[in-house]
Formats: sequence, structure tokens, C-alpha cells
Amino acid sequence: MVLAGQNPASEVYVRNKIKTVGGAGCRAELFRLDGSATLDEALALVGRLNRDEGIDGILVQSPLPDGMGADAEERVFDAIDPAKDVDGFHPYNVGLLVQKRPALVACTPLGCIELLEREGIPMKGKHAVVIGRSDIVGKPMAMLLLHRDATVTVCHSRTVDLPSVARTADILVAAIGRPAFVTREFVKPGATVVDVGINTLTSKADVERIFPEGSRKRAVFAEKGSVLIGDVHPDVEAVAGAITPVPGGVGPLTVAMVLRNTVAAAELRALGKAGM
Ligand code: NDP
Repeated sequence: MVLAGQNPASEVYVRNKIKTVGGAGCRAELFRLDGSATLDEALALVGRLNRDEGIDGILVQSPLPDGMGADAEERVFDAIDPAKDVDGFHPYNVGLLVQKRPALVACTPLGCIELLEREGIPMKGKHAVVIGRSDIVGKPMAMLLLHRDATVTVCHSRTVDLPSVARTADILVAAIGRPAFVTREFVKPGATVVDVGINTLTSKADVERIFPEGSRKRAVFAEKGSVLIGDVHPDVEAVAGAITPVPGGVGPLTVAMVLRNTVAAAELRALGKAGM
């Protein structure tokens, strides 16, 4: 894992991944770059990790420091050997995913599929609506659902009358990054709702607007001064057939998929099947 700079959220993500990956019997090693590191230094580190035969998977924690330049993430992610790209962000792996060929696939959408499959939620022939079209969540999510024979609609900030479109979904995936954005009017009764969003509320007014009096989240806020919330409003629980919690839903599955990808990458490399 590569961590550049001092982003507190990134520190938490990386610590969790190291704990989980290490706890599962893999060797997890953290390579730090300080906030003033240059893009060339980051690329040199990735090059070294690519060449290291003892390393099966490379994760570069986003965001990279601003000083590395606007296209730093693209340059650094593109530099990772596709055979070690356990985040599944490399264009080579994205291409394989689109063509429905075995690939290292982005961990969050992979985790969402795992959740749906393990809960026995049918996807074949169902209408799936994905809100969000990012390269790391929305687009690969849509592709994975399509490959499971769902009919897929991808929505974004320019979608007209989003609640009406969302309401046609049997499976609704929210990957937006806006707290409690998906309200009851977005959800067909009985639909399965996958809440990918992870947002932190720090305003008491927001917490009181969203969570009813006496709720556990209000108690968490009173104790910690902040509370985590997804992109889905808590009221949706009453209409959805099934819904993922935040935290404790998609997040842990994402980390589990990092592990799965790492094992897959190790096996594929051992068999000499991966890479360009
Ligand atoms: P991005 O910011 O890259 O993408 C957000 C998407 O939401 C964009 O496609 C954007 O549309 C769309 N969007 C924004 N506002 C609206 C709106 N008002 N109406 C409709 N669509 C809108 O975010 P990510 O995909 O990286 O992440 C999404 C969320 O998932 C975040 O909360 C993030 O923290 C969380 N996340 C959780 C993970 C986990 O492990 N659980 C892992 C990764 C992310 P447009 O393209 O038009 O701008």
C-alpha cells in the first residue's frame, strides 16, 4: 500500500486495510511518501513495487497530494503493473471487465455484487439503476450488473427527474457522495437498495433533520460530534425490500474484495496468466 501525504481519512482506510489483509494471513506493507513528494518519486516507487517479485498487489491510496499535479492519479494508476492492480483501476483491467473476461475488478462494485449474490437477490432480467458514473464505482457497477443479465440504467447529475427513473429500479445502487440524498420518493416499494455512499455529518442541525429523536445515530453524534451516513435517507428502510447499512454494509465488503483480488493476482501471476 502506498500512502502519500497526511490525509486523516486515508490514514483510517489504509489502517483498516492493513489490519484486515494482515489478519487474513497476507503480508501487508505500507510505503509512505511525504506530502511534498513529487510525481516522479511516486512513479519511481510504483516502478520498484512492480519489479518486486515478493509483491502480488499494489494499492495506491487516493487522493494524492495536490502538489503532484492534476493528472497525478491517472499517471500513477496507469503505471501499476495490471497484474498487480488489485484495485482494478488500470485501463487494461477495465477493458477486460467491459469484455466480460476474467479481470481484477474494482473492489467496491465487486463487493456490492457479492452482497447481492449472497443475499439471493435476483439480478437476471431485473431493472438495476445505478446513481453515479465514476470510474471506480458507478461504471464498473453497471458493467457487473449487465454481465449478470440485469437491464441497467446509469444516472448522474444531469439525469432529468432522477426520482422517477430511480423508482423504476428493482435494484437501486446509490454511489453519489451526498448524505441522505436518496429519499423514499426514489424507491419502489420492495426494491433492493445498495448504499455505497460514506459521508460524515458534523452539523447538529443536519443530524436532527435526518435522524428521528431517540435514534442510535443521534446518540452516536452526541458522543462523538460526528456520525457516518450513506447516500440513502434512513426513511428508505421502511419501503425497501432489502437495504445495506452504513457503516457495516458495502465498506467491509470492499476490503474483503481487496483480499480476494490480491489472492487472485497472486494465483494468476504464479500461473503466468496475467499482465500485458
Ligand atoms: P464521485 O464523486 O467520483 O462520483 C459521484 C457521482 O455521483 C458522479 O457520477 C456524479 O455525477 C453523481 N452525482 C453527484 N451529484 C448528483 C446529483 N445531485 N444527482 C445525481 N447524481 C449525482 O464519487 P465516487 O463514485 O468515488 O463515490 C461515491 C460515494 O461512494 C462517496 O460517498 C464515496 O465516499 C463512497 N465510496 C464508498 C466506498 C466504500 O467502500 N463503501 C468506496 C468508494 C466510494 P456527474 O458524473 O454528473 O458529476
